[in-house]
Amino acid sequence: MIVLSTWNFGLPANKVAWQIVANNGTALDAVEHGVRHAEADPEVRSVGYGGMPDKDGIVTLDACIMDHYGNCGSVAYVKDIKHPVTLARRVMERTDHIMLVGEGASKFAESQGIMRDYLLTDDARTRWKKWKKTQDFQQVNWENHDTIGMIAMDGAGLFAGACTTSGLAWKMHGRVGDSPIIGSGLFVDGSVGAAVATGHGESIMKMCGSFLVVELMRNGATPMEACKAAARRIASTQPDWKKNQAGFLAMDIHGNVGGFSLRNGFQYAHSENGVHTLIDSEHLLPKEEHEVQST
Ligand code: ASP
Repeated sequence: MIVLSTWNFGLPANKVAWQIVANNGTALDAVEHGVRHAEADPEVRSVGYGGMPDKDGIVTLDACIMDHYGNCGSVAYVKDIKHPVTLARRVMERTDHIMLVGEGASKFAESQGIMRDYLLTDDARTRWKKWKKTQDFQQVNWENHDTIGMIAMDGAGLFAGACTTSGLAWKMHGRVGDSPIIGSGLFVDGSVGAAVATGHGESIMKMCGSFLVVELMRNGATPMEACKAAARRIASTQPDWKKNQAGFLAMDIHGNVGGFSLRNGFQYAHSENGVHTLIDSEHLLPKEEHEVQST
């Protein structure tokens, strides 16, 4: 059994997920409930309730979920649902579709007995108002995001993954990033493994990041090699890559894991044998170049 998730808020989320797999629960339940922990926490300002709004002051959430067999569900541009990952799971399990967006997703939630919520916290409103004064679009960069992506293998050897975010702070209204896009923010193939991505969504969507990582593992790469190759793909194809952050996490059917990012600062939580560890990811951009690029 292994659980991996992005960023430091992945650590408490992993603990929730671990309880589930350690008690013979499924990887699918584990990833859903694990990331719900981050969605519910208003201190996590880039996921779920408490997430930063777009440039018009509106919080819009995106999420997806995928199981061992390739079943998946996704929601995007959701303005009033606190747990978009659960809604994504309902799309997967209770509709003939994969992705619902906006008002249609919220109406579907209502039909499922999921209540609408107001998502903009006082703290998020205050930060947005401060940002409004300068409207510094430079701020739409690697500092203002952090999705929770989680992948897990349960005791039966089955994989699942989930990814949920409020997206980039101060994004254009209507913008959707990689996180709810199957193959970009998340990809699971039970015969190979699973991968998840975080960071500048546009960079990740251009190269179908998570799908690429899984395909590289299918062709023999270890999870670490595959994550590194995905970061290199961004660097070799996107001239402005040094301005952005993107990180990948992966796990294969042999229980090998890996994580790699473009820049310094990406962390991920690794849980195995009941031990939970926060790991500083290796990265592509040499540390000495960071100062120059982040100013
Ligand atoms: N990937 C997310 C997005 O672009 C943000 C993040 O992971 O930090 O919406």
